This record gives sequence, structure tokens and C-alpha cells, in this order.
Amino acid sequence: MPDTEDNTSVVPDSAEFPSAEQVSNKSRARKCSRRKFLKYTGLVAGAAVAGAAVDALVIEPHGFQVTRPTIPVNNLPSAWDGVQIAQITDIHVGRFSDLDDARRIVEMTNDLHPDIVVLTGDYVSRADAISRALVEVFRDLRTKRKFAVLGNHDHWSNAKGVIASLETAGIPMLINSHRILDRRNQSLCIAGVDDFWSSSPGPDVVQALSGVPREIPRILLSHNPDYAEQLPSSPRVDLMLSGHTHGGQVKLPLLGPLRLPINHSKYAEGLIPAPRCAVFVSRGLGMVGVPIRFNCRPELPLITLKRTIT
Ligand SMILES: [Zn+2]
Repeated sequence: MPDTEDNTSVVPDSAEFPSAEQVSNKSRARKCSRRKFLKYTGLVAGAAVAGAAVDALVIEPHGFQVTRPTIPVNNLPSAWDGVQIAQITDIHVGRFSDLDDARRIVEMTNDLHPDIVVLTGDYVSRADAISRALVEVFRDLRTKRKFAVLGNHDHWSNAKGVIASLETAGIPMLINSHRILDRRNQSLCIAGVDDFWSSSPGPDVVQALSGVPREIPRILLSHNPDYAEQLPSSPRVDLMLSGHTHGGQVKLPLLGPLRLPINHSKYAEGLIPAPRCAVFVSRGLGMVGVPIRFNCRPELPLITLKRTIT
């Protein structure tokens, strides 16, 4: 026998169907909650955009942040173990930063009581920012041991003027040259090279470290971190300190830095291993292009060097 089908009716009583009025009420409620959802989403998105704009235009640009990286250095003499180096870089006085910003940076640096201050370039963004008043600001840096190199914007503005200003303020320039520091009869070398982009004849680490005994650890200042890719195998460099990138200045979530003026994007910021040595790149303290920083606070690093033995 063929299978039989159960022909019992599955159609419910008409009483189980919603009325036309009920359907219309439900749809009105759905539309209403969708409108509410869109309204609140719009409000939240609007508040987020407004918050980001306030952050990028008002809060971050001059919200200098002290960071405290600890960096190991091979065979650092015990007398220099724990030495603290403040790094001032990329202030860019003259366009989006002014003398008050520079003064605050110097005061913050003095308050950190570093053993050494290194200045890694781009002090000004235009020639008319080089002034007697700027010299007086830099002269207030209290640390005895302080050294500087030039950045591309210093060259483009007026390199001679910047050199004269810093040296008048008591800050020696290390242009392909070095100084040997002494502490309890143990030595540390701070060397500097000229800017990678804009100087002529350019950065020269061989000249910068000429005559430095092999056993003395060397810290090299180079405004542009890309120079790390060009370091020869000799002379040895133990650590390079750089700026120039501003960390990208604007870092979008998921997308990262909008613009990095370097060939090797790994040098955007922080401590990076390079072919010959470690490189520390500060996000710097000023701005170029636009008066905006986002997700990329201006940085005043107080670096602690830690002795490691190999
Ligand atoms: Zn810069």
C-alpha cells in the first residue's frame, strides 16, 4: 500500500493571526527603535569625531610626555651603569611651536635631573626663529654634559645660525665629531654625525669616532635614523639615538602612521634593532606640515642605560 499522508489541517484559526492594527503597531515600533538606534549611533560617532578633533588639535600637540625607556648597552662600564640621558629633539620653533614650548621643554628636562642631555636636531622650522631669546632658553638647560647635532630643518633654515645659537648657549655641536666623558676614571663616548638628508659632505661615522679607543662604549647621535642602515662594520657603534620621524605625528587606528619621512619604516619610533646596533627613535616634541598630533604624543625620553656583559 502506498504511504498515506496525514491530511490533518495545519492552518490555525484566524484568531491566531495578528490583526492589521497589531501588524501596523509592530512595524511602527520597529521603525521607531531603528530611528533611535541610528540617532544614538550618530550621536556616539559625532562625539567620537569631536573628541578626536579636540585631542588632535588641542590636547596632544603640546602635551609633552616624559617616557622612561631602559636600554641595554654591552660592556657599559660600571661607573656609567644607570646613567640617565634626556633626549630633546624636533622642537621646530617658528611655525607650530613657539618659545614658550621650548621653555617648557627645557624646564621639564631640568626637573628630570638627567646626567646627560642630547639634542638630536630640528630646533627651528624657519630662519627667523633663530633669536637671542631662543639662545637664552637653551642656556637655561642646567645639565653640565649636553651635546647636539643638526637636523634637516636646521640646515634648510640656517645651519650656521643654529650652530652659533646652541654653542652660545653652551651646547657643543657634534658634527662628525665626538667627546669622551669621564666618570670615576671610566669613559663613555658621545659622538654625532651631520644630517643624512641635507648636509654636505654628509654624515661620517668614521670621522666622528676617529681616535676613540676600542674598549670605550659609543653612543652616536644622528637626526635621521635611516643612517643606521649605512653604518659600516667598523667603527663599532653601541647605540644610536635619533628623531626626525615624529613617530608619524598622526597615527590612525589600524592604519598606523600617516606619513614617515624615512626609507625604512621600522624606524618610526622606539627601540629598534638595526644591522650594526640598536637605534632609539624619539617621537620628538614639535610638528611639521599640520599643527596636529593624533595618537602620537610628543615625547621627552629620559633614557636609562643598563650595563650588560657579553
Ligand atoms: Zn622634525
